[in-house]
Amino acid sequence: MNRIELSKGENSSREVAMSNGLTAVVITTFGLSAVSVAKTDTQKSLAVFILEKDQSYVGLGAVGFSLSEMPWKLETFIQDKEFFLQALVGIKQEIGWQTLNYEPSKDLLFPIIDQLTGLVGELTKDKIDEEAAAEWLAAAEEDDPVVDGFPMCEKHRLLLSLFGCHACNDE
Ligand SMILES: [Zn+2]
Repeated sequence: MNRIELSKGENSSREVAMSNGLTAVVITTFGLSAVSVAKTDTQKSLAVFILEKDQSYVGLGAVGFSLSEMPWKLETFIQDKEFFLQALVGIKQEIGWQTLNYEPSKDLLFPIIDQLTGLVGELTKDKIDEEAAAEWLAAAEEDDPVVDGFPMCEKHRLLLSLFGCHACNDE
């Protein structure tokens, strides 16, 4: 089980919980959709932050996070939140699914996407943890995808994280 919270320390009603298997599907399909709508480095960084939640490297059930600790930029928060919501919409349009070697279960996936859409909707500027965002960006080594031109997996058309391609690792 993994949990995506609105912000650290929020009460447990403001989170989305999902099984380990479903988490990988949510993250992969989010990445596939996000690539098609991400226009700026900040938006790509937000997508990579999520794709880095890779259970094949970090451990099953160990990839929970808070929306507030993502690498948001206050100056472009409105546009970037809109990007995030658009990426969630794109999952329901099955963007990029043809690259996968399995068919995601819409019955399991779409209710989670609805919950995430609600959670992202609740995210406001004042909840952003600027320190956490700065730390995540500062931790990127020079060969990290977020500072190395955002390379992609050619097979899946997915942005790479420092662990490689989330979809390749999940196969
Ligand atoms: Zn791949």
